[in-house]
Amino acid sequence: MKQRKGLLIILDGLGDRPVKEFGGKTPLEYAKTSNMDRLAKMGILGQQDPIKPGQPAGSDTAHLSIFGYDPYKVYRGRGYLEAMGVGLDLSEDDLAFRVNFATIEKGIITDRRAGRISTEEAHELARAIQKNVKISVDFIFAGATGHRAVLVLRGMAKGYRVGENDPHEAGKPPHDFTWEDEESRRVVEILNEFVRQAHEILEKHPINGKRRNAGKPVANYLLIRGAGTYPGIPMKFTKQWKVKAGAVIAVSLVKGVARAIGFDVFTPEGATGEYNTDEMVKARKAVELLKGYDFVFLHFKPTDAAGHDNNPKLKAEMIEKADRMIGYIMDNIDLKETVIAITGDHSTPCEVMNHSGDPVPLLISGGGVRADSTEAFGERECMRGGLGRIKGHDIVPIMMDLMNRSEKFGA
Ligand code: ZN
Ligand code: ZN
Repeated sequence: MKQRKGLLIILDGLGDRPVKEFGGKTPLEYAKTSNMDRLAKMGILGQQDPIKPGQPAGSDTAHLSIFGYDPYKVYRGRGYLEAMGVGLDLSEDDLAFRVNFATIEKGIITDRRAGRISTEEAHELARAIQKNVKISVDFIFAGATGHRAVLVLRGMAKGYRVGENDPHEAGKPPHDFTWEDEESRRVVEILNEFVRQAHEILEKHPINGKRRNAGKPVANYLLIRGAGTYPGIPMKFTKQWKVKAGAVIAVSLVKGVARAIGFDVFTPEGATGEYNTDEMVKARKAVELLKGYDFVFLHFKPTDAAGHDNNPKLKAEMIEKADRMIGYIMDNIDLKETVIAITGDHSTPCEVMNHSGDPVPLLISGGGVRADSTEAFGERECMRGGLGRIKGHDIVPIMMDLMNRSEKFGA
């Protein structure tokens, strides 16, 4: 029996709710998506709950769940995955955090993302911090994408029970870090000293001088959160399914998840994870990987950002951008020999401006699929699709079965 290839495409935060200015359609229903609609006609639709119904999922826990892991068992915080995603080689003793470059004025956080500072600027500021901050333990401070960075305190994993200094909204002062035991109290002391020294360095850095002159928010403060340690992955995805797996991802958190479970991860030049991401370089990379790999995961981020920004028009545009990416892939692979699944890792409804527990549209198409009668990819069509409503962790087994790669249970 011939084995097929698998392509899992995750459009981050894809699911949404009815939008008034679209006459009650969702951004996915409103967007012109001729390629995904063609896949829907050939395939089968449904809805999936990334973790469980009504549970808003983080991108990290949702991806872990979709790849078949129980996030309540394996998840040990976001920071570690984020740090793996920027390519750091970490040990099980390390404690990692995610960091935002932010703007502080007179003790108040005025912008949690420092005006969405560019990756290049943030990386230069990160190098200045790595070079000039002096604390009592070894650390790594590295820029990620945009305003995001990671901090790794080496050998401090036992002190993971720490809170964060991020107030999560502008107009408030930073929080005090909380701790739960002696080891985490020590980590908080280190973090306080780290934040203080970094603030001094950032205040006088020439990049911020330039930003000030240009009237842009300065990146003069660090918001630190998401303490994480080594995830308790029982078996890598690649080993469990006996596949060679490759991924095309720009965002470090999702890269970290994929790396942790055994994917070879690629970020082609021009794939930024932001609104300006070059969807065609991602499409070309996915087509290339499908030649040498059994299972390919393609992640597309800006749909989520538009939901967070409560911008339905932009979300629809980003969905159309993803549709062009998918169209290129469809034109350049053998659809009969490939199983394609398209979904989101969670819903990010514009009206919520954050992740919600709404189920996520799911499409499975390509070789071997028994088509249902649905006509287009959208939330309401998915409700009447033949897949019904499934859990996120059911997606991969369904794909693997259609790929003729599942093993029989019983005689
Ligand atoms: Zn997400
Ligand atoms: Zn999000």
